[in-house]
Amino acid sequence: MTACVRGLLLQGNQKLGSSIHHFDLPAVVTCPGRSPVCESACYCRRGRYLFKPVKDRLAWNYDQSQRDDFVKRVIAEVRSKGVIVLRAHCSGDLYSKAYAEKWLAIMRACPKVRFYLYTRSHRIDDIAPVLAEMAQLRQARIWYSIDGDTGVPASIPPGVRLAYLQVGEDEQPELVDLLFRVRRLRKKRIPLSVLCPNEGPSEKAKDVNCGNCRKCWE
Ligand code: SF4
Repeated sequence: MTACVRGLLLQGNQKLGSSIHHFDLPAVVTCPGRSPVCESACYCRRGRYLFKPVKDRLAWNYDQSQRDDFVKRVIAEVRSKGVIVLRAHCSGDLYSKAYAEKWLAIMRACPKVRFYLYTRSHRIDDIAPVLAEMAQLRQARIWYSIDGDTGVPASIPPGVRLAYLQVGEDEQPELVDLLFRVRRLRKKRIPLSVLCPNEGPSEKAKDVNCGNCRKCWE
């Protein structure tokens, strides 16, 4: 097998800011816990995600994630690039138990890195226990993504927080830790401290990114 020199981790994007690294997968096909709401509202099915280089990159990432050397290569890159914060899956999700276990192994091997991810794979019976293990790690921040279709999970492991995707004005989610809104709702002012400040109605929202906000990963 030939050595692979292309990197798995990218650094920064408009939402994350310049310092957070990320690893991404093709959306929908890697999202076994997806709901009709999230599939229809998914930002990863629009805009730049439709460009061929982006699609090719995500397909390549998916292939790499299935290789036996994936864990070893991510760990090596974390160390060589001096990664401080790593978000798994700006696009895509934990698509199988075996793949989720790879991320658990990566997290365990890198206790000084801060990992965070949002996932609907908590809806998949054999992936949920792996998420519960991740949530026990000091270096991991695990968010269960929920919406009007999924409802609130019956069981929420210690350390897991809830991020709700609002698609309708009349939705009034309770007991969530974070609220994301689809673009057409973002002009409305709502008095909720859980609202992602990057999605607020004011011009100031443009200056907020995950690097300077820190709410989801600190
Ligand atoms: S709440 Fe902050 S850290 Fe979380 S997604 Fe929004 S901007 Fe990023």
